[in-house]
Amino acid sequence: MESLPDDIFLSALSSVAEAVIITDADLNEPGPRILYVNCAFEEMTGYELGEICGRSPRFLQGPDTDRAVLDRARKALAAGEAFQGQVTNYRKNGTPFIVEWRIVPYKDGSDKPKYFISFQREITEELKTLQHTEQLELIQHVSKEITSEGLNLDSVRQRVADVAMEITGAEAVVVEEPEEQDMVYRAVSGRAKGNLGLRLRIDQSISGLCYRTEETLNCMDSRKDERILLKEKAEEIGFRSAILAPLLHLGRCYGVLKVYSSNPHNFTVDDQRLIELSSDILAAALFDAASFDEEVRKRQILLDAVPISIAYIDTDHRYVEVSASHEDLLSLPVSEIRGKSLQSILRQDNYIRLRPYLDGALAGESVNFEVELQLATEEERTYRGNLEPHYNSQGKVIGCYAAVQDITDAKQAGEDYLTGLPNRRNFEELASFLMNGRERKRAPVSFLMLDIDEFKKVNDTYGHAAGDKVLKGFGQILRHSVRRTDVFCRWGGEEFTLLLDGSDTDSARVFAERLLASIRSFDFGRVGNITASIGIAEAASDENLKSLQKRADSALYRAKEEGRDRAVVAE
Ligand code: GH3
Ligand code: MG
Ligand code: MG
Repeated sequence: MESLPDDIFLSALSSVAEAVIITDADLNEPGPRILYVNCAFEEMTGYELGEICGRSPRFLQGPDTDRAVLDRARKALAAGEAFQGQVTNYRKNGTPFIVEWRIVPYKDGSDKPKYFISFQREITEELKTLQHTEQLELIQHVSKEITSEGLNLDSVRQRVADVAMEITGAEAVVVEEPEEQDMVYRAVSGRAKGNLGLRLRIDQSISGLCYRTEETLNCMDSRKDERILLKEKAEEIGFRSAILAPLLHLGRCYGVLKVYSSNPHNFTVDDQRLIELSSDILAAALFDAASFDEEVRKRQILLDAVPISIAYIDTDHRYVEVSASHEDLLSLPVSEIRGKSLQSILRQDNYIRLRPYLDGALAGESVNFEVELQLATEEERTYRGNLEPHYNSQGKVIGCYAAVQDITDAKQAGEDYLTGLPNRRNFEELASFLMNGRERKRAPVSFLMLDIDEFKKVNDTYGHAAGDKVLKGFGQILRHSVRRTDVFCRWGGEEFTLLLDGSDTDSARVFAERLLASIRSFDFGRVGNITASIGIAEAASDENLKSLQKRADSALYRAKEEGRDRAVVAE
């Protein structure tokens, strides 16, 4: 075959778009000398062949030129190998630019290279745009994921691992975090999937080195890389080249984001930038999620410390969150309660008793209830509960909060758990006793039934806890208003009853007016003014407690009808 004249190659080189530099292969000081540069090089740098011929290309370097890249290039060339990298160079006018740089030794048949042919493609703009779009996409993507996943640590790690896979086209991504002496695989993607939980010693693994030095590491070939100590392990997991970026946020290193491939030299400088960017996002997200986790943990400790069982129940009647006290309530570990439906966990009879309240709350009502529930031991206990609907931003009920308290002991002691007043059972016992003795004493007895006005509004406006406080306030008012011989109680809900020994209708009315005045002037704090209505009935001879209470209740009903904040005497 006819061989081509040499100058045809030079002529071809002069018109290619990539900058080409040919030097001799003398690596001794002052370095290889330029023999040829093409037009693209002259255009890119502003230098002309005539002025640089015979000089070392060092004049291209400047303060931002990465010495490590140059060293690696020199090492590769000294070993007779090609080199590829990215480096910052300077134009004749002093401005820096970034090139993708490939340099190959030209051997001309012998073992020792004779020339170095260097190709340079400027990527300054490309890098910027790439970085911008990728950055934006990635940030959008990850932050969207993180918000929708509700800042769960595991899902944050997993999403970033998956995104890193996607953008680098790596075979495997691992998020590693330190624990005691080891780096632990906390999230895995791609072919690393089977290795979740894998532990390698911090002082032996390259991830440990990345974590310790807090610097991005680029491993081109694990077989040749001296930093890879666990060579067998690397082969086993298919780790040949990799980029490892530390997860740094606010001066703390959380772990390492590692991207790897079973091929050597698999990653570009662009990949490295994207991984560094991902690691920044992951570190920030891990920081947020860790703080959030900490908050949740603190809240859980608080929740578990109160003697009330608190739960969040969804619209399918499933326990989403439960406090530790549910373990006693349901005789099951919390882990077996979460995610289960009430129907599948509660005794059927208990579920039937609770269901109407639950339906009420899920229909948007704030529900208060008192129920007797049967424990697994057949023991019956009394619970007081409050259910508050939980709305989403569209105003739809998506679940409810439940607070349930065992009030059996207070109840058995004849005491109302909330106000500390005697409870209804206690009242009924004492009142019957007093009514029975009445005939002998020939003294009148009057029954008062008190009901707080518009109390539902207090709960609806200020919340259930504020409502409870008002009820406690009524406890105080009553205790201060009664005489030693009077019998009184919290009848239930926002109703109170009193039996005034020795009082006829007239003196009962005087008492009631005084009581209403005390209520009006009582300081209920931020809920403002509260009033109540009272029904009064004086016992007829032979009248039993039940009938007396019924007549007082009718009078109360009239007091409400006539405009509230008043006392009405039964006919
Ligand atoms: P009225 O003037 O007609 O009496 O109006 P009201 O809003 O007081 O009447 P209603 O009987 O409809 O409301 C009573 C409310 O009292 C409803 C219930 O949620 C609330 N309630 C009952 N027990 C408790 C409790 O222990 N704590 C709190 N915070 N609220 C309770
Ligand atoms: Mg009422
Ligand atoms: Mg009321």
